[in-house]
Amino acid sequence: MSEQPAIRTEKLTKHYGKVEALVDLDLEIPRGEIFGFLGPNGAGKTTTIRTMLDEIRPTRGSASILGMDTHERSVEIRRHIGYVPGDLAMYPDLTGRDTLTYFANLRGGVDQAYVDTLAERLDADLSKKVGDLSSGNRQKVGLIQAFMNRPEVLIMDEPSSGLDPLVQREFQTMMREVAAEGCTVFLSSHTLSEVQRVAARVGIIRHGHLVAVESVAALRSKAMRRVELELDSTAEAAVFEAVPGASDVAVGNHHVSMSFEGDMGALIRAASERYGILDISTQEADLEEIFLTYYHDEEVSA
Ligand code: ATP
Repeated sequence: MSEQPAIRTEKLTKHYGKVEALVDLDLEIPRGEIFGFLGPNGAGKTTTIRTMLDEIRPTRGSASILGMDTHERSVEIRRHIGYVPGDLAMYPDLTGRDTLTYFANLRGGVDQAYVDTLAERLDADLSKKVGDLSSGNRQKVGLIQAFMNRPEVLIMDEPSSGLDPLVQREFQTMMREVAAEGCTVFLSSHTLSEVQRVAARVGIIRHGHLVAVESVAALRSKAMRRVELELDSTAEAAVFEAVPGASDVAVGNHHVSMSFEGDMGALIRAASERYGILDISTQEADLEEIFLTYYHDEEVSA
């Protein structure tokens, strides 16, 4: 069989009565990619994941995972995926370990040593009843159940919620490791800093519409940054104002500062044709700001 994308959705749409929670989502995610799916609360992330997995029927459209239609082959697909839902149902009286054993038995057994490794890495206490755990510690049990079968595709709905920063870092490392081994990761999040650490591409969803799919690198290059240059002679504003993407140019003696959006190479070439550059510093906008730019643009064009 030729290599099918890990995840594909075609015109996937879900209406709840008059609420258009998801509209015409077309996505294609190749194997081995970590794909970040970003949007604020209520944007439609959970709806996307649940319709994609056929937990709820789409109003129209379809989805496939590893080339299998998620409606027609939902049972088979479950054997190949790890899933962290937004609200994983667990029996409060079972310990973490018993919970994992329960999930493992549903799937035909599991590598206990691997479960222990995962628990250690996430600092999870599997001896306590899950009903007595904090939401963050319960979440760790949810993460372990998703990873423990070494799935080919991991689909996770805001999996980092409630995890402390150190555990989040470890979890990010785990995502990168499994992706390096060929696992595809679909990571829904409203935390941009996390996504920019792990994802290759990011889809941005707002009011049920996919507003952008970009590589993290492209998002960054679009980002406005503050740039400051120290030059070997008196700076002239006009030299920098002529560079595409430069704005708010301010000069003072040998120093120039500006906002810059675009090709840094062009800026450096323009500067070095005219001056010796003694120092350069740039401060990059993070995705949070870029994210707001996308929403803002949508608002303006809507
Ligand atoms: P969150 O991060 O808060 O979970 P989300 O991006 O996952 O947000 P969804 O939960 O998919 O967003 O919700 C998308 C929209 O669909 C929201 O307007 C929500 O109120 C609505 N919605 C979700 N589930 C239902 C339902 N069962 N009945 C009616 N409306 C719903």
